[in-house]
Amino acid sequence: MTNKYMYFIANWKMFGGLNSLNSLHKVNKFLKTSKKKSTKIIYCPPSTLIRPMSKKLKKSSIEVGAQNCHEHETYGAFTGSINSLMLKNVGAKYVIIGHSENRQAGETDKLINLKIKSALKSGLKVIFCIGETFKQKRKRRTKQVLNKQIKLGLNKINNYKKILIAYEPVWSIGTGLIPKSNELFQTINSIKKIKRNFKVLYGGSVNPKNINELKSINNIDGFLIGGASQDPNKFIDIIKKTYN
Ligand code: PEP
Repeated sequence: MTNKYMYFIANWKMFGGLNSLNSLHKVNKFLKTSKKKSTKIIYCPPSTLIRPMSKKLKKSSIEVGAQNCHEHETYGAFTGSINSLMLKNVGAKYVIIGHSENRQAGETDKLINLKIKSALKSGLKVIFCIGETFKQKRKRRTKQVLNKQIKLGLNKINNYKKILIAYEPVWSIGTGLIPKSNELFQTINSIKKIKRNFKVLYGGSVNPKNINELKSINNIDGFLIGGASQDPNKFIDIIKKTYN
């Protein structure tokens, strides 16, 4: 890997209780002994775990993020929702926005744009997910789809330093499938061409077995890891192999 900083973002999705926090000890210990000072680890647990996780990681360089937020910038009558201010208040530094699981549940580009604006206003950094479906890929519309998601999602936003783009092909999430290396390189390049200082991560079925292939793609700034991040041994293995 040639990049200055490598991000390893753990998306725990709707998994984990208080006892899952015990697994952080291993990862924290590994990070302390690692010589790679440029490794950035961010854990995005369910909202219920943000506060206890932040407390647990108080002295660690591992940071904590959320998996989504409501678009409303202040408090309001939105039963069951959590806004970016609240996430910041309990220790989140980042928030994932635009994950395909939420897009599939009806989240539009316009809503994503409002959420990103609200998160930035609250002082959170944003992990902005984009990705094409298998049907769109088959029709060779990947570039067009991603450009549109970026254009609409980042409409009237220019604070790019606070935004990490996570390219996550929908067909790759949780399926064990990953894009061909040359295709992934080209897609990441075309995203970076939109704005040269975009940091672009890859997400979708990253695991200890395919990381050797993925790490050889040298324009990737890190990985967003779902399933494999719930097992500290697999997560550490992915990080170790990225550098070896
Ligand atoms: C994700 O949900 O962001 C993700 C990348 O999941 P997985 O690694 O399990 O495919």
